[in-house]
Amino acid sequence: MSEQTAVLDTLVIGAGPASIGTAVALQAVHGLVHGVVERGQLGQSFLDWPEQMTFLTPSFTGNGFGATDLNSVHPQTSPAFSLGVDYPSGAQYARYLRGVARHFAVPIMAETEVTGIRPTTDGFAVDTSSGAVAARTVVWAGGEFHTPRQPSLAGVDHSDHSSAAAAWGPRSGRVVIVGGYESGLDLACHHVAEGASVTVVDPGHPWEAGTGSDPSFRLAPRTRARMKAALATGRLTLSSAGAVTGIRAGSTGAYTVAIAGAMALVADSRPILATGFGAGLGPAADLFEDRGDGWPLLDENDESTLTPGLFLVGAALRHGGLTFCFVYKYRQRFAHVAGVIGRRLGKDCAALEEWRTAGMLTDDLSCCGVECAC
Ligand SMILES: Cc1cc2nc3c(=O)[nH]c(=O)nc-3n(C[C@H](O)[C@H](O)[C@H](O)COP(=O)(O)OP(=O)(O)OC[C@H]3O[C@@H](n4cnc5c(N)ncnc54)[C@H](O)[C@@H]3O)c2cc1C
Repeated sequence: MSEQTAVLDTLVIGAGPASIGTAVALQAVHGLVHGVVERGQLGQSFLDWPEQMTFLTPSFTGNGFGATDLNSVHPQTSPAFSLGVDYPSGAQYARYLRGVARHFAVPIMAETEVTGIRPTTDGFAVDTSSGAVAARTVVWAGGEFHTPRQPSLAGVDHSDHSSAAAAWGPRSGRVVIVGGYESGLDLACHHVAEGASVTVVDPGHPWEAGTGSDPSFRLAPRTRARMKAALATGRLTLSSAGAVTGIRAGSTGAYTVAIAGAMALVADSRPILATGFGAGLGPAADLFEDRGDGWPLLDENDESTLTPGLFLVGAALRHGGLTFCFVYKYRQRFAHVAGVIGRRLGKDCAALEEWRTAGMLTDDLSCCGVECAC
């Protein structure tokens, strides 16, 4: 970000994959002046991932044949190519993001936290820990990792969220995990492999195959294979008996997990909540309308319905029943948002066609969500 610039055309908040992917697309808009602010370091959420966590969407260098690596944020890049792995860890993916940002010279101001976003007559005044920044438009890319979802359970303080390093630390005896989708089963397989006996509780039984093919609602094949191997040990139990209603710490170091309409479970360590994340809108929260389910309401350009000029990119993106919680989904909108901003400011956006050619630009969302035939 140039210090001489009085007013940016666009300020992108956060420096994760959604931000870097959008910033590189904005870079392709001729003459657009933009910058990125990040409260930590580039890829901070991935640096904060417990070291055992890896991507569940595989990376592969199919770019040359029009099949861009599922985890890449720009058509000419591939984490599989630059990292040499197919399931990157958090630290590895942060390295990939640093490489992309360096290659495309993305202007980033690190260790700068955004504390307030104020709409003004000609844009926004954004308050940061390093002073105020003026911008005509703002893109919120703050991610969800820093807002773990805590269900309203009695005794929730006796649990560890799946995103915490403590959830992955050594546990022996009986382990109880609340939530049976990807992160719950990832943890369950990890602790079974380490010798523990694990019960996963989820009344929605998301481990069952279901009918749809959308990976946001269906376990990844690798997770399913790991689950089968863990079940074969006899030390993994999947329970859909009822919802967990409370956690009680006993005097002996054990924990009782109460389940509606079923027998309580006993755990020898703090139960683990694999209950996902909230929208994580931080200082932008009041500038978005709530859809009624905790996710922000957006128009067809991923712009706030309350605050014109404020856009959202990343895993919190929802349109109707469509969920964009993976890189390969939400990256379809980087070039769209960049194009909307660029055209509104009278800039030449022709270079964004590269994203369309690479299959990384979806303007019309009505074509999303088609199920696989077989
Ligand atoms: C366990 C787990 C596994 C996952 N596996 C996959 C997978 O296999 N494939 C996949 O595609 N996706 C996966 N995801 C989803 C993943 O979270 C997203 O793809 C990705 O992290 C979202 O990127 P983002 O840029 O929106 O957010 P983030 O990567 O979280 O980046 C947001 C950034 O904004 C910064 N920030 C936040 N608030 C402020 C502020 N007020 N001021 C300044 N900076 C701020 C944060 O420090 C952070 O660096 C996984 C998520 C989890 C938790």
